[in-house]
Formats: sequence, C-alpha cells, structure tokens
Amino acid sequence: MSIDGAFTYNGGKVEPGERQNLRYGISETYLGDPVRIPVTIINGERDGPTAFLSAAAHGDELNGIEVVREVAHEWDLSELAGTLVCLPVLNVPGFLAQQRYLPIYDRDLNRSFPGDETSTSAKRMAARIFANFVAPCDFGLDFHTSTRGRTNMLHVRADMADDDIARLAHAFGSNVIIDSEGSSGMLRTEAAEVGVPTVTIEMGEAHRFQRGLIDEALRGVESVFAEYDLWDRSTVRWPGWRTVIDDDNEKTWIRADAGGIVDMHYERGSLVHEGDRICTLTDPFKSDNIAVEAPFTGLLVGVLENPVVYPGNPLCHLVELESDVRQVVEREQSRRVQPRADR
Ligand SMILES: [Zn+2]
Repeated sequence: MSIDGAFTYNGGKVEPGERQNLRYGISETYLGDPVRIPVTIINGERDGPTAFLSAAAHGDELNGIEVVREVAHEWDLSELAGTLVCLPVLNVPGFLAQQRYLPIYDRDLNRSFPGDETSTSAKRMAARIFANFVAPCDFGLDFHTSTRGRTNMLHVRADMADDDIARLAHAFGSNVIIDSEGSSGMLRTEAAEVGVPTVTIEMGEAHRFQRGLIDEALRGVESVFAEYDLWDRSTVRWPGWRTVIDDDNEKTWIRADAGGIVDMHYERGSLVHEGDRICTLTDPFKSDNIAVEAPFTGLLVGVLENPVVYPGNPLCHLVELESDVRQVVEREQSRRVQPRADR
C-alpha cells in the first residue's frame, strides 16, 4: 500500500474508488507467450484493511474460484472500506491442464512461496504473485478443496497459536477449525511469516462447483468482512457449534488394509460413533467383505469419493469431538436430512 490510499503493484496502481481487472504476467510458455493470472483489485472509497482472496493454487480445486469471482463481480462493493485483491486462479498452468500441480516438472505451487525470482519456474511464479499481491495485504483467505478422489466438509486450517490468525479463523465462522502450523512453502504459512495472517479454507472435492459449499464459504467471507469492518452490512457469524482440532484431539486418516472397491456408508461431515461401520471394502465378487469401523467417536471431516483403493490409500479423515460439542452435533444431525445436491 502506498501512503495516498492507492494499491500499487509492479506495473500499476489502483486508486481509492477504482476497480481493475487485469491479467498479470507471472511466467512464459515454451512458445514464449505470457502466462498470466487473472487479478481483480477493488479499492474502496473508504479507508480500511487490504485483504487478498485466492484460489486454485492447486489447479483442479475449483470451488474457491467461484467464491472469489462472486465476491469480486457479483457483490455490491460500493460501500467497501478497504481494498480487496482477488486472485481466482493462482496456478494457471495447472488449471489449464485440470491438475493439482504445475505441469512443469510437477511442482507444487503451494510449496513454492514466498518464491524466488532467480530459482525454479515454480518459485519464480510464486515470487511474482507473492510480492505483488500477497505481501502488501493485511490478511488473506486461500481456498482449497480436498485432493482429487476425496471430499472435505468445509473447514478452516489455521495456526491457532498466532492470535491474529486465530482471529481470522474464528471470524470465518466454520464449525471445524484444524489447528496446524502448515508446511514451509505454503501460501498461508509464508504469508504469516511476513506479517499477513492467512488461513486456508478447505471445501468439497476437486473438479466441481458445489453450490452448497460455495454459499457456505460466501457466508464465511461476509463474516470476515464484518470482523475487519470492511463493510457495515453483515455481522460476525456464530456457526452454532465449533471445534478446534489440535494435537490433543485424536484424529486419523483411516487407511485401507486391502485393495478393493469401497462402499462408503457416510457422507462428509457425518458424526460416527465408536464401532460404527464407516465403509465396507469389497472384492469383485462381493464375497470377502471387510467392515471398516470407527476407532473412536468423531466427525468425518473427509471421505473417499472415488471408491477404489490400494492398501494404504486413505478412506476417511476422522477427528475426535469433545463430548459437549458432540451433543450439539448429535442434536443437529438428528434433525438434518443430509443434502444430496452437492454430491
Ligand atoms: Zn489444495
């Protein structure tokens, strides 16, 4: 940010009250053509914080793209107090190929931040993005989905030991927060490292727009805007119940011990009790069925979507719930009919 309230990046400037849609060069193809990411910068007439919203650091994780586009292009931002930097597709080469990693040597863009202008292609791309559109912000939301073939209930991943990050994580108003530091090179980790509190929002599966989850995430963004006074129109959201999963909670990826075809009996977000049969591993003849049971009572934060496994492949991500939270979830889930529209 510059002193006069304008947002500046290498090559341009967005004045208060101005909006810019640009395609920003971050690399070049084999043919020497530019690789450019779409960026929308909305600088409100009123003063306030600068936030970035980013998606598709993994090129096949699409739900967040729609969240960022709707905020940038469908919301009425005329009363915005502050600046939004909207980055709907970070990993353009991966997005074009509809795959998770950069197709160039299969690099993970989300392990390449803050980047380096003199290093690998992935780190050069990351450096352009990071220096221009992440480092100048006051906080950020980075949207992801589960890896291809699996799905997640919407949850926030955040380093809750950092008060500024915890404030942002709470403001999003999700039921589940998974407390983790993250890894070196991750956008949220490296942004926090330079003083830009950032959380990851995980939602649903790759290769899809899932309307229910997109709407839930948009409510989260509204709630964050309320918390940081980016506008006056919404209030900070309380999701009804909340659990912060940290190292004291049991959590596990339950893995298949045999290869097979999986009959999953629960949907993402379901509460399962110790001993419940989560899924059944079957062979081609349906003869040797193996029941996979919950080792403890908890929430299925993630489940397999593509119903085939080798031994060692993950079946579901189960996290323990404290008993007080569990009672609230039990009451809620006994009332609720699981929506099928998203599946
Ligand atoms: Zn991802």
